[in-house]
Amino acid sequence: MTSDAQRLFQQQLEAIRAAGTFKQEHALASPQGGRVRVEGREVLNFCANNYLGLSSHPAVLEGARRALEARGFGLSSVRFICGTQDLHLELEEALARFFGFEAAILFGSCFDANGGVFEALLGEEDAIVSDALNHASLIDGIRLCKARRYRYASGDVAELEARLGEARAGGARLVVVATDGVFSMDGHLAPLDRICELAHRHGALVLVDDSHASGFVGRTGRGTPEHFGVQGQVDLLTSTLGKALGGAAGGFVAARREVVELLRQRARPYLFSNALAPAIAGGSLAAVRLLEGSTALRDKLMENARVFREALTQAGFAVKPGFHPIVPIMLGEARLAAEFARDLLAQGVYVVGFSYPVVPQGQARIRVQLSAAHEPADVARAVDAFTKVGKARGVLR
Ligand SMILES: *Cc1c(COP(=O)(O)O)cnc(C)c1O
Repeated sequence: MTSDAQRLFQQQLEAIRAAGTFKQEHALASPQGGRVRVEGREVLNFCANNYLGLSSHPAVLEGARRALEARGFGLSSVRFICGTQDLHLELEEALARFFGFEAAILFGSCFDANGGVFEALLGEEDAIVSDALNHASLIDGIRLCKARRYRYASGDVAELEARLGEARAGGARLVVVATDGVFSMDGHLAPLDRICELAHRHGALVLVDDSHASGFVGRTGRGTPEHFGVQGQVDLLTSTLGKALGGAAGGFVAARREVVELLRQRARPYLFSNALAPAIAGGSLAAVRLLEGSTALRDKLMENARVFREALTQAGFAVKPGFHPIVPIMLGEARLAAEFARDLLAQGVYVVGFSYPVVPQGQARIRVQLSAAHEPADVARAVDAFTKVGKARGVLR
């Protein structure tokens, strides 16, 4: 590398540090769970997407172990050459059935699913209307496709309706509304009932990325469509296996059969990237089977979230209202959020502070994520730690 190039990269790193947005990683010396080992000691973990505690669940480990032994470590092939195993087909069928779709197609990640889905299905004759707070992977996937782009303020159905009208007036062949089911910084849900109603009135399709909902939002964990009673009205569901559904890796699109078949022919991350490893397929399949059999884990998770939210609100914290296990504790200033997180880690509670540009200026926060891996005593300990630090820092109302 030339010294000019080296200097250029160094300067950019320094700018990130100077802005106070440098992301410091802490290495875990343990499996993922309600408790993890960080920096040589055991702490309660309240910042994982391990909503159902399946990342190290015995049934999931057993599914992965069996698949590893019976189907090997890796496929060394994309799906359409020689990388499709019976396990992939079983997992695709199980995901389609669980989420109430005709078919599903696996990707290496949900980032890949979102990266491939738009370009494969839409062209310049088409239009996409997307929520302004959509996940980076939806934004990138939309940018990779030639469809005309419209945007509405997050969750603003009046603006969505106006954009749908514009897309239609522009003569678009197909119009797709694309939204996260749950927005990860607030734990807020997209108003899917209104979105589906508007989309259908304008002859548009609805795509929902339910990564922060699949497996636990809705009475039986089918996600935001179930929560809003619009299962069957969402045309394309994209989601991840990397959060509640085992947490290893992988993503998928669930839709009608012809859509999934077309994606197998055209989606570039599917065609040009390696098949999911057998152990991941086997472990994820075990995860889906667990959820088909029982709602016990999502019920426990939701109860943990309810108790934690109530206790922190009661203690005087500014908690964004809602019911989702993402619980944002609003602190305002970036420095305060960072120091608050550091104090909590010292108290044995691992959480992360988020500040601009991930959230709006002046809305820095601690984002707590509850898990079914937490016991009531763990939740109580976290509440105590928050209260102690909150008092010391004078942020309680
Ligand atoms: C986490 C997340 C993704 C990325 O999922 P991966 O499988 O980790 O690539 C995509 N969309 C949303 C909304 C997410 O929260």
